[in-house]
Amino acid sequence: MSDLASLGFGREVFRPDHEEFRRTARRFFQHEVEPNVRQWEDDGHFPAELFREAGKYGLLCAGIPEEYGGMGGDVLHHLVMHEEQAYSLAGASLEGGLATDSVAYTLLLAGTEEQKREWLPRFATGDVISEVAISEPAAGSDVQGTKTHAKRDGDDFVINGQKMWLTNGPIMTMFLLIARTDDGTSEKPSFSMFIVPVEGARGLTVGKRMEMMPKSCGGLSEVFFDDVRVPASSLVGGVEGAGLSAGFKTLALGRMVVAARALAAAELGLALTTDYVKQRQAFGQRVIDFQNTQFELASVKTELTVGRAYLDSLYRKMLDSEVDATESAIAKLWCTEAEGRALDRCLQLFGGFGFSDEYPISKMYALARGHRIQVGTSEIMRLLIARSL
Ligand SMILES: Cc1cc2nc3c(=O)[nH]c(=O)nc-3n(C[C@H](O)[C@H](O)[C@H](O)COP(=O)(O)OP(=O)(O)OC[C@H]3O[C@@H](n4cnc5c(N)ncnc54)[C@H](O)[C@@H]3O)c2cc1C
Repeated sequence: MSDLASLGFGREVFRPDHEEFRRTARRFFQHEVEPNVRQWEDDGHFPAELFREAGKYGLLCAGIPEEYGGMGGDVLHHLVMHEEQAYSLAGASLEGGLATDSVAYTLLLAGTEEQKREWLPRFATGDVISEVAISEPAAGSDVQGTKTHAKRDGDDFVINGQKMWLTNGPIMTMFLLIARTDDGTSEKPSFSMFIVPVEGARGLTVGKRMEMMPKSCGGLSEVFFDDVRVPASSLVGGVEGAGLSAGFKTLALGRMVVAARALAAAELGLALTTDYVKQRQAFGQRVIDFQNTQFELASVKTELTVGRAYLDSLYRKMLDSEVDATESAIAKLWCTEAEGRALDRCLQLFGGFGFSDEYPISKMYALARGHRIQVGTSEIMRLLIARSL
C-alpha cells in the first residue's frame, strides 16, 4: 500500500470490523464525493442528498443502537467516519460535512424514549440533517451570556433571539437549540434544550450561507427566531433547566471528533507533501534532497506521531468508559495546534502551488484554522486543562 492508501489502517486500537467500516467510508468519499466536489463548490453547497447516500452506505449513526435505527457499533465507528472525511482529498471542501452524528448522540444520551424513537432512525437514513445551536453573535465561549429565550405559553414554548455559525445551516432539517428559560433577570440563568424542526416553523428564518475562510461546498448559517412556537414535547429529556447538562453530555465527544479530524488531516498533509517534494525539482535536485525539507518533514512527523499515540490511547479508553473534560481538551488542543503548525510547514514546501487551489493543501490549511476555534477555542481548552492542576 502507498503512504496515502495506508493512512488510518493497521492501528492497534481498531478491530477488523472498524477497518472494514473504514474501507466502506473511504469508498464513499472516493466515489460519491471526490468526483463531484468542484461542481458543488460552484453550486455553493453540497446537496442534502449526500446525507441519504451516506445513509445507504451505512455510515451514519454507526455507533447508535440498532433499536433506534443505528448500526449498533461503537464510538470508534463514529470517529473512523470523521477521520475518513479528513483523509479524503475532498474532505476540507466539505467543512463540517457529515457532522450530524454528534447530535444523534446528544439525543441518545439526553432525549426521552419517545424523542429517540421519533428522530434517531431518520438520522441514520440521512433524512435528518442537524446541528446543535449554541453560539450567538454576542455569546460563543461564554455560553452563560446566551440571550435567546424560550417562554412557556400553555402547551408551547415561544422562542425569540438569534443563533450563529450553524454547521450545514443551509441544508439542515432540524437542530437542537439551547435557550434561556428563566425570566431573563435571574443572576443564575437556567437553560433548556429544544428540538426545532426547520420546515414549517413559522417565525424561523435561516440566514444566507456565511462565507468562510476556505472556498468550500460546506456552509454555516445564522438563524433568527421571531415568536417561533414549539410544543413542550420538544423539550429534550422533557425537563426544563437541563439544557446545558444535555449539551455537556456530548461536548467531550465533539472535541474528540475535531481532534480526530485535525490529526487525520495533518497526516494526509504530510503524505501529500512527501509525495510532492519527491517529484518536484529545484536547483537540479529533488526538493526532498534539501536537508531543510527533510528536517521540516521530520519535525512534522514527530509532532503527529506523539499526537497519534495520545489520541489512540483515548480511543482505547472510549471503548469501555468515557474521556473526561481535561483529556478531551488536551486532545483537541494538541491535535488542532499541531495540525496548524504541520499544514503551515507543508504548504510552504509546495511553494506557490501551496497557495493555489491546484492542490488540496491550501483548503486543508484554511480549514485547520477553524479547528482551533470550533467546539471551544484553544484558550478555552487551556482554561479547562488548568482547572485540573
Ligand atoms: C467552522 C466552525 C463551525 C462552527 N459550528 C458551530 C455550530 O454548529 N453550532 C454552534 O453553536 N457554534 C458553532 N461554531 C461557533 C464556535 O463554537 C464559536 O465560534 C466558539 O465557541 C468561539 O466563540 P466566539 O466566536 O463567540 O468567540 P469569543 O467567545 O468572542 O472569543 C473571542 C476570543 O476571546 C477568547 N476568549 C474568550 N473567553 C476567554 C477566556 N475566558 N479566557 C481567555 N480567552 C478567552 C477566545 O478564545 C477567542 O480567542 C462554529 C465555529 C466555527 C469556526
